[in-house]
Amino acid sequence: MESFPSTEGPAVLEDLVRSIRDNAAALSEIDGAIGDGDHGINMSKGFTMCAERLAGARYDLATGLTTLGTLLLGEIGGAMGPLYGTFFREMAKPAKGKEVIDGPLFQTMLQRAIDGVVALGGAHVGDKTLLDALAPANQAFATALVGGKTFDEALLTMGEAAEQGKESTRGLVAKVGRASRLGERSRGVLDAGAASCALILRSMEASMRRLLR
Ligand code: ADP
Ligand code: MG
Repeated sequence: MESFPSTEGPAVLEDLVRSIRDNAAALSEIDGAIGDGDHGINMSKGFTMCAERLAGARYDLATGLTTLGTLLLGEIGGAMGPLYGTFFREMAKPAKGKEVIDGPLFQTMLQRAIDGVVALGGAHVGDKTLLDALAPANQAFATALVGGKTFDEALLTMGEAAEQGKESTRGLVAKVGRASRLGERSRGVLDAGAASCALILRSMEASMRRLLR
């Protein structure tokens, strides 16, 4: 079965940090339309702290994700510090002590990440949040594996679903968070959290597909 060694933590984490840093200005611009314009700055700050903490170290995927999540949770304010902190810390848990990451394990990791975000934030699909990218991506990944697709194919499908989910937020009215105060006026633009979530999932898709053997 296709998998990659969990010792490849740096390959995945370094891609994640680069993806968020390269897109920080775009994420803040998206947040500026119906939020306070700080989303890219907050995310980039947390991910950069993580890169500094892990620089030059060897670590497995679970350790890398836990470090990222712990820094976001402890150091970054706004809605996203706690939510993505929980996302990454929960995602790491099923991978702890595992030597290889395969499709079924990654499916469990994704599911845990969603469960953590829902338990903390109480949002539902359709509320115009990061869940609108995350939930369809998770669903697509799980459906692909159940349907006999390879880990590689399932990751590709996951990335596409995350992108579509992100785009779907344009048509939604925000029901939670800062943007919900705008009511109907929040319709017509992307949700910043869904945009960052799609970036995160696309980055994971790319690094993992490169590592699979
Ligand atoms: P803030 O709203 O505090 O400025 P950010 O700008 O960093 O925080 O993040 C805003 C994003 O947080 C939104 O685009 C949305 O996707 C996400 N969000 C807000 N509240 C929730 C929630 N309860 N559950 C899931 N995601 C949420
Ligand atoms: Mg904001």
